[in-house]
Amino acid sequence: MLSVIDALSQIVATVCPLPVIDVPVASALGRVLAAEVTADLDSPPFDKALMDGFAVRSEDIRGERIDLRIIEEVTAGRVPQRSLSSGQATRIMTGAMIPTGADAVVRIEDVELDPAQPDRVIIKVPSIRPEQNVLRRGTSMRAGQRVMSAGRKLRAQELAALTEMGQTQLQVRPQPRIAVLATGDELVPVEQVPGPGQIRNSNETMLAAQIAQAGCSAMPLGVARDERVHLRERIAVGLEADMLLLSGGVSAGKLDLVPSELEQAGVEQVFHKINMKPGKPLWFGVLRRADRPCYVFGLPGNPVSSMVCFELFVRAAIRRLTGEQPELPQPQMARLTHAHLHKDDRETYFPAAIWTENGSLCARLMNWHGSSDLQSTVEANAMVVFPSLPAEYAAGAMVPVIEW
Ligand code: AMP
Ligand code: MG
Repeated sequence: MLSVIDALSQIVATVCPLPVIDVPVASALGRVLAAEVTADLDSPPFDKALMDGFAVRSEDIRGERIDLRIIEEVTAGRVPQRSLSSGQATRIMTGAMIPTGADAVVRIEDVELDPAQPDRVIIKVPSIRPEQNVLRRGTSMRAGQRVMSAGRKLRAQELAALTEMGQTQLQVRPQPRIAVLATGDELVPVEQVPGPGQIRNSNETMLAAQIAQAGCSAMPLGVARDERVHLRERIAVGLEADMLLLSGGVSAGKLDLVPSELEQAGVEQVFHKINMKPGKPLWFGVLRRADRPCYVFGLPGNPVSSMVCFELFVRAAIRRLTGEQPELPQPQMARLTHAHLHKDDRETYFPAAIWTENGSLCARLMNWHGSSDLQSTVEANAMVVFPSLPAEYAAGAMVPVIEW
């Protein structure tokens, strides 16, 4: 059976990034940058005061109560008209341009002003380091340098840095539209009290939320009955999206009609079944169309299986679609806080709580009752990965974890 890593590489090989679009910087939050951006200016663009106070020559400040003559006042946005000579100071505000000749700013708290002598300032500190409270032109970035690489997801700070560099329009990849179709005769909507043998459709809510968390837009399609004509009609609607996620109907049961109906609709199977727990029945394929393909995941119906498969595989497909780097999940190493016997010969993704203690990452496994036990994921914020080899783990063992 296919391993997780091989399944991930098949996904990466199958999915093509969406075509690049141009959007105004104000609409780019959550999108992924598709082209490298270089700085058009130095940052800061001039030598700048970091404090309100007095621009001085540091060599002048030697000894107690040095008295300097104030030659000018410069507020932010103004250009100093006079360069500073020995024995002089310029009153300056945070963010204003430093006059030539000055190499430090004495904070306003460290001076004394006498209203009777409005052109004098007394420096209360005995010395000041050259460059103190000054940020030189180009310290954080030089014109022509790379500000950001392609593949970065844009948050507030990225958008601010790009705005500083004069980027009004950004090249990004569009937000994928992802359809969600739950299948199963046993499913009822949340507002309905389930009858005998019925359960509520929690997967639609969960998957729509995971889609939103991944920065995509979810198209919930309700429930398809375990019946070919109805399922076929709903699949046809879902295939209009960039990606279609089905839940349920992919195992070996009598009414597991999803794989055959997908193939009937022209969706080419890439793989079915993975050597993992939970999530073994996962199905993945692609509908190749002239204009744009639709990628299809048949997720197992069990909620924890669906959730894990989304985090590992659907997320990787989304990152690939949007060009986000890195494409694959990035495990970190954590210290198990208790012993654990891993009996399964499938690679296992175990719900866990992780936290940092004395600078190192710790992991505690949940009391997990298997792939339908949604409740144990509520307290979890990660999954611990156990390889496909049964083994005993002592307390303190280092294990890979993936944040949820
Ligand atoms: P299946 O993969 O269709 O055999 O379903 C496996 C298990 O997951 C069954 O116990 C289903 O009742 C449950 N299940 C399937 N779909 C959903 C759903 N949308 N929400 C919650 N549980 C589900
Ligand atoms: Mg079913």
